[in-house]
Amino acid sequence: MNIVSRKPRFVSGLKLKENKKSEHSPILLIPPPSRVIIPMQMHTGAECSLLVQRGDSVKTGQLIAESDSFVSANIHSTITGTVKSILKTVSPATSTIISAVEIVSKSAQQQTGDAQDSDAAGALYEDEVVFDNSASIKSVEEFRAFLKKIDSEQAPGLIQKIKAAGIVGLGGAAFPTHVKLSVPEGKKIDTVILNGCECEPYITADHRLMLEQGMEILAGAYIIFKILNPQKVIIAIENNKEDAIKNLADIIKELGIEHIFSISALPSRYPMGAEKTLIKNILKRKVPVGGLPLNVGVVVQNVSTAKAIFDAVAYDKPLIERVITVTGDIEKPLNLMVRIGTLVKDLKDYFGVLKEKPYDIIFGGPMTGFSVANMNFPIVKGNGCVLVKQGEKLVEKNCIRCGKCVSVCPMNLMPLMYGTYAKNNMWEQCSDYYIECCIECGSCAYVCPSAIPLVGYIKTGKAVIARKK
Ligand code: SF4
Ligand code: SF4
Repeated sequence: MNIVSRKPRFVSGLKLKENKKSEHSPILLIPPPSRVIIPMQMHTGAECSLLVQRGDSVKTGQLIAESDSFVSANIHSTITGTVKSILKTVSPATSTIISAVEIVSKSAQQQTGDAQDSDAAGALYEDEVVFDNSASIKSVEEFRAFLKKIDSEQAPGLIQKIKAAGIVGLGGAAFPTHVKLSVPEGKKIDTVILNGCECEPYITADHRLMLEQGMEILAGAYIIFKILNPQKVIIAIENNKEDAIKNLADIIKELGIEHIFSISALPSRYPMGAEKTLIKNILKRKVPVGGLPLNVGVVVQNVSTAKAIFDAVAYDKPLIERVITVTGDIEKPLNLMVRIGTLVKDLKDYFGVLKEKPYDIIFGGPMTGFSVANMNFPIVKGNGCVLVKQGEKLVEKNCIRCGKCVSVCPMNLMPLMYGTYAKNNMWEQCSDYYIECCIECGSCAYVCPSAIPLVGYIKTGKAVIARKK
């Protein structure tokens, strides 16, 4: 059976300089930091309410915040220590002011002299976890046995484990995974697309995970298969990652799941990894305006999310860490497994000294990321990249009506209109040009010769319109 199918070379989208500087850098597991700042909303949906207060001791993986709302995601402590403070920060998901919790380890407390438990002497740093991290599924036989065990489980129980673990889409959208997997009555999913495209320049976290933890990814995808019961699962990977395509194809054969799983090798074009672009290119289906992939019988999940699902179901492990790429104008671009809430400044030792030029810290890639004011910003669940960019910032000029933004838009929108209306504070008129359909891919801003920050205007426009509804 042929597991890999290849799409034609000529598809729409931008051909960008890839700059995948860290693609050969194995994932480096770094020690837990001595301090984390964990925002109460790292996901699409309702902000969580804190279950702990200042002075409380917490363990790694302990539930520290939750919400009654269905569209939300549990939050867990990512280190072992003490709640030092509750503070305010900017939500990376909504750009609004939200609460965050600062947790410090025992060693950090003792160094700063503010230890609340002086009997805590002994091991200076203990990573006490509340889930079972001694179990380990490693061999092909063990994975086969795991898949058999999954066959005997029911969808509601699996979804409950995913919900408890606070898993969100790790491709950037940070949409709660249990919500995406709870398909409304009357809807039927016939295809799951497992997204390993990672089409944005610089980022290599998913690529490395597909090379190093392919078994875990496929076991997670099998859990999704068990929950949704589709006819097939298609793994989408751009053809600039042939090693990952081969690795996953080999594992599919080893696990004996080729009757369900196949791989679609896609041309490397931006934004190939966007859900609607993937569905159009692989299945020739068009998601209706204002609709979701499930309206055309599809659910798309990212490969890193599948790995987190495996961890949650196999080990009851909450989402406390993720792989990120640290890259750009630095000495050592690499991939790190980091605890959620780690501050960027605490990663500086791993990526080398910055040359003495002005630089920008971008959370996410160059197309969809956003600048953060300083290095005190924490890594959050949906953040797969820290990009350090040097050089002068471009100055915004007037629109010259060149039409380049229109010609590259994968959603066939007219981005120049959003810029025009934004400057005149006429946000509501943006709806006449279907601003809600924008997938915020950044292609329009990338090609704009006038350096108009179209995506920033689009995000603000969407937020203003949503608030008025
Ligand atoms: S308008 Fe939206 S979808 Fe179209 S190119 Fe710009 S960011 Fe992408
Ligand atoms: S690409 Fe920029 S300058 Fe050209 S039409 Fe679009 S917004 Fe105007």
